[in-house]
Amino acid sequence: MSSIKFFSGENVPLEMHKVRMVQKIHLLPIEKRMQCMSEAGYNTFLLKNLDIFLDMLTDSGTNAMSENQYAAMLQADDSYAGSETFYRLERVLQDIFGMKHFLPAHQGRACEHIIAQILVQDKSIALMNYHFTTTKAHISRMGGIIEEIIIDEAYKIQSTNPFKGNMDIDKLQKAIKQHGKDKISMVRIEAGTNLIGGQPVSMANLREVSKICRSEGIKLIYDASLLTDNLYFHKIRENEYKNKDLKEITREIGSLTDLIYFSARKLGAARGGGILTSDGDMFGKMRELVPLFEGFLTYGGMSVREMEAMAIGLQESLDMDVISQTPIFVEALCNDLTAKGIPVVSPPGGLGCHLDAKAFCSHVPQTEYPAGALAAAVFIAGGIRGMERGTISEQRNEDGTEHYADMELLRLAFPKRVFTLSQVKYIADRLSWLYANRNLIGGLEFVEEPKVLRFFFGRLQPKGDWPQKLAAQFRKDFGESL
Ligand SMILES: *Cc1c(COP(=O)(O)O)cnc(C)c1O
Repeated sequence: MSSIKFFSGENVPLEMHKVRMVQKIHLLPIEKRMQCMSEAGYNTFLLKNLDIFLDMLTDSGTNAMSENQYAAMLQADDSYAGSETFYRLERVLQDIFGMKHFLPAHQGRACEHIIAQILVQDKSIALMNYHFTTTKAHISRMGGIIEEIIIDEAYKIQSTNPFKGNMDIDKLQKAIKQHGKDKISMVRIEAGTNLIGGQPVSMANLREVSKICRSEGIKLIYDASLLTDNLYFHKIRENEYKNKDLKEITREIGSLTDLIYFSARKLGAARGGGILTSDGDMFGKMRELVPLFEGFLTYGGMSVREMEAMAIGLQESLDMDVISQTPIFVEALCNDLTAKGIPVVSPPGGLGCHLDAKAFCSHVPQTEYPAGALAAAVFIAGGIRGMERGTISEQRNEDGTEHYADMELLRLAFPKRVFTLSQVKYIADRLSWLYANRNLIGGLEFVEEPKVLRFFFGRLQPKGDWPQKLAAQFRKDFGESL
């Protein structure tokens, strides 16, 4: 990890693992990449994996598993009810977070569905540091209203604040006073704040938020999907945690919150999800919904094999060598891009490298989706698939007008322990070529726009023939090269 110094003085994100199983990937010629992007309606979600060179869409369900995880899958106990696999997983989770009850669910949003069902009433307010797409969708679906009370610094793309995911304590107190605590369905803290660039939340902040929630009797919900990055930053950026055991940190998080849920597609490097709480009342209400929407209480819609892999993956998440790999790769890429003058979210967070599309394509107006356009251009330029995290990822307002995102970001996620340093260098190289030719990037417009979560399967088209011009420039500069 990052504490290993090189004689050269260079800061190298050294891999603390070796690769023993590989998957071949293909880099198509640029003409093919352009055609694939067009067939996918300029939406990177609609690309086919076989056509992609480096898939940086997400870290969801795409993380490399360890040999111990694969081994554990073979001893899964297949039974509908009372599976030993469930009890193994439950023991691991209780040990990590020190919470009493565990409910399984098939993925993170399924947890959000259940939590929203029991906590959210019509017009109730959910206060949070920042929303995640599926969180917002589930709370809105129940008639709830979301209020984001993150620190102002979070909206600054370039900052030196080490914890841009922190909740603003003043805003929290004001919101409680303004709405009255009975109108507030929950306070939600998201670890490794996804949509603002994988930015962490400090323990000091969580402690303050917890104190206020406890004194007001408001439930504090913790989304631990991106916990591992946040754990890394507690240790690296928060002095008093430098020498603390990772388990002491997770136990403290458990002691400060009323409910923890997570997507195990991210935390635990498998595929699934889960909810933990020591609150008997909430547990009782949620327990009725799990068999209805997910599956019986001892599998919750998950395969027992995935649950075994998850139990091991969760234990391995308490190893700094394991969890440091993503943030140090993110930092390496962000620093490289910053040195080349390419605008990225700073300080580097977890999850991935986030390009600032508003600055990268400053000539593309927000009405023409600069982050979506950049996502298409990055795929055409290098076969690299990122995810638009800007206006396309938002939902239109009730009256049909566009809801412009606070930031127009292109996220290049690092699936955990999947890519190598030479691939990171390739990414930086193609991005610097694209940046030098950024004036060729044009806007996009919708041709097919779903009402809910439109970013998943909406289709767009370029304004003008800019993809062709970009490809022609590529040929001029790279000749026959892919
Ligand atoms: C991915 C994610 C979710 C949703 O999890 P899924 O398993 O994809 O349904 C919720 N919250 C955060 C912070 C996430 O990153």
